[in-house]
Amino acid sequence: MTTSSATSSTAHTASATNPANSTAKRIAIIGAGFAGLSVGCYARMNGYEVDIFEQHDMVGGLCTAWERQGYTFDGCIHWLVGSNPDSAMGHLWRELGVLRGQTFVDSEVFQVAEGRDGRRLTFYSDLQRLRAEMLRVAPEDRGEIDRFIALVEKFGRPDSIGNLTDMSVMRRPSWLLTWVPVFIKYGRLTIHQYAQRFKNPFLRWAFEASWDMPEFSIVGVFMTYAWLAAKNAGYPVGGSLKLAGALEQRARELGCRIHLGTRVEKVLVEGGKAVGLRLAGGTEHRADYVVGAGDLHSLIYQLLDGTHGSARQKGFFDSCPIFEPIILLSYGVRREFADHPLVASYVALQLPEERVIAGAPHRQIMYRIYNFDPTFAPAGSTVVQVMLQAPYEHWKELAKDRARYLAAKKQAAADVADILEARFPGFKAAIAVTDVASPTTFERYTWNWRGSFEGWLPTPKSVTLRMPKTLEGLDGLYLAGQWVQPGGGLPSGAMTGRQLVQTLCRRDGKEFHTSLSV
Ligand SMILES: Cc1cc2nc3c(=O)[nH]c(=O)nc-3n(C[C@H](O)[C@H](O)[C@H](O)COP(=O)(O)OP(=O)(O)OC[C@H]3O[C@@H](n4cnc5c(N)ncnc54)[C@H](O)[C@@H]3O)c2cc1C
Repeated sequence: MTTSSATSSTAHTASATNPANSTAKRIAIIGAGFAGLSVGCYARMNGYEVDIFEQHDMVGGLCTAWERQGYTFDGCIHWLVGSNPDSAMGHLWRELGVLRGQTFVDSEVFQVAEGRDGRRLTFYSDLQRLRAEMLRVAPEDRGEIDRFIALVEKFGRPDSIGNLTDMSVMRRPSWLLTWVPVFIKYGRLTIHQYAQRFKNPFLRWAFEASWDMPEFSIVGVFMTYAWLAAKNAGYPVGGSLKLAGALEQRARELGCRIHLGTRVEKVLVEGGKAVGLRLAGGTEHRADYVVGAGDLHSLIYQLLDGTHGSARQKGFFDSCPIFEPIILLSYGVRREFADHPLVASYVALQLPEERVIAGAPHRQIMYRIYNFDPTFAPAGSTVVQVMLQAPYEHWKELAKDRARYLAAKKQAAADVADILEARFPGFKAAIAVTDVASPTTFERYTWNWRGSFEGWLPTPKSVTLRMPKTLEGLDGLYLAGQWVQPGGGLPSGAMTGRQLVQTLCRRDGKEFHTSLSV
């Protein structure tokens, strides 16, 4: 394990007030997740008055964690793209104060695949170690393995799409000449399709299983390994709450007014323009601009009654796959797992046979041992977590009957504990506390459509889509966050937030400014 850290330095102080009754234009933002807070920060850097409305009693949205009997169960962060402060994305995080006081773990091992026959494949972050490991398992695939490593190296270049925060670079002829052929060749391939190139059946299984999302674009895999190799996708010790806290602090320092526990019920529209929000309880909040930085489906169909947005945009809900809802099973375990490698992502464990868990058939489970974050458990103990796809309709139906719902959660936790017991004898006896978050838990706390945990899945089709950042027929309303950028994730909040404020500045004839927090 190597660690890198970014320590705090001068916080931005200019324009740190948000004076009511000033002549500055007012922005009302729906949602205090990473997108809403990012929009707020950049808007304040550019002199707008900012009010952010959040239905939950804390900021962060999906980037969150919860405590149970001395254990912290994290509901989000595996790796933060841009953990290297000198990277392009790192620059945005420094503007947003997110790297302040963070210590990142750049784990040597990204993922592991464990076959039912005891075979293992370790996906190292270092590309030469990864190459050697893949060759150890599948010497017959030397050619394809070398091509894979070469592609990852290519995606590590500064002009790769994964390292761009300024998308205008993509319009340059030199960029097009280099990258268009790569996208023509690989942009149409899913992980599943790409994995078929390997002759070795175990490598094929391990490559696909360690992502557990067969429809995911292979380009996303190339980019992720490139970030890992560059130590630019570290795990922040302290997890999601610490990350969200850093962004909240920056937003408040800049003068954003954050209204927690305040649900937005309607967008107010007058003469084809969004002019404010109606809040739960009936209060109206007027603004020059409204920003939707939460769930897009409920914005279109509940807050605006389906009256705005093009047929194409609404059609995404039928035609574009989402990150399927998950069930997150967390165990506080009185055991250290010191002999288990530090794996910042997941270990894919192949099951002896297909098994129905949490309403869906599974051939493997993804487990994660938090032995890399000592802040999550009392000394001598560790958090172990399993994430499984779980059908939304199944859990929505169960949730109508509380007793059945609780029983189903208990059963899922018991099923997974049995599997972990077989893998780590003595596991069940060491469990101190268990927690289960179902798709409806994610829906309830974050309001995301179908409880999706990251918005649109970056499939070969969706990664090339340019999703609208406004709603057709409605002036004054702008969109940011995971529902307007396939692939979602925390960086999409920062990037779409920054672009949105650039758009507003252009509209208002202002120069766009930023400042650094770290
Ligand atoms: C298990 C898991 C693992 C993940 N791993 C990673 C990772 O390793 N790296 C990474 O970058 N990302 C990861 N993500 C994804 C990441 O958390 C999300 O993509 C990101 O947080 C989305 O941010 P957002 O601001 O767009 O949306 P959200 O976080 O959903 O924020 C929207 C906010 O709007 C609020 N809201 C919605 N409607 C209203 C309303 N009407 N009134 C008031 N408030 C409203 C919601 O309560 C919410 O707080 C993971 C997510 C999960 C669940």
